[in-house]
Amino acid sequence: MKIFSDERLVALGYVSGTVSKHTGSGRDKANVERLMQKLGIEPARILGLNQVHGDEIIKILNAEDLDNYRKQTTHNADGWLLGLSGVGALILTADCVPLYIWDDDGKAVSLTHCGWRGVVAQLPKKAAKMVGQNAPKAKNICAFIGPHISACCFEVKEDVANKFNKTSIINKDGKLFVDLANEITLQLTAEGVKKENIKTGCNCQCTACNKEDFFSYRRDKTKDALISFVYKI
Ligand SMILES: [Zn+2]
Repeated sequence: MKIFSDERLVALGYVSGTVSKHTGSGRDKANVERLMQKLGIEPARILGLNQVHGDEIIKILNAEDLDNYRKQTTHNADGWLLGLSGVGALILTADCVPLYIWDDDGKAVSLTHCGWRGVVAQLPKKAAKMVGQNAPKAKNICAFIGPHISACCFEVKEDVANKFNKTSIINKDGKLFVDLANEITLQLTAEGVKKENIKTGCNCQCTACNKEDFFSYRRDKTKDALISFVYKI
């Protein structure tokens, strides 16, 4: 098992990262529970949601937020803003981007599930804004763009390509490819995040290319999904 994480976030007291497929699909709750037990985290403390490729973000910043979450039976959303000790949350991806954004005061971290629809709906920008508003005194907002289908493999039709900035589209012999990391970076920098504070995984972190470590919907055509999580100690 490998965990692809950002050491800056770990240093702030968050156990977090995107876990390689060796742990099994995150759609099976037993795999999530086994992973959390291995990490020494009580599984009941990890919250889940129902991803809908939208732009809703669930805030869990205090005990009242947690109570409200527990009272609701459905949680249709694609992201989290978490800042409560002893509480964690997860998202699932199989080519979409697990995006981590946090303030360097360590007040809260956002974890969002960003497929192309979420990116077009400005979910990364919205998440960065929420993190900033929650930590107005923080010097820096930081981001980690986790393993996802990279520009090498993410071919789209023209109608989808037209929804992105031109600098995020690569034309290879008439075929169009989207660079989601570039598009996310554009949104975050527009929200005031410094480019040097945005880290993207290396080339080996393309989910479609790296069959050994990742599930890929595009490659495998299955529902298997990678687990990405954050937990505040
Ligand atoms: Zn690739």
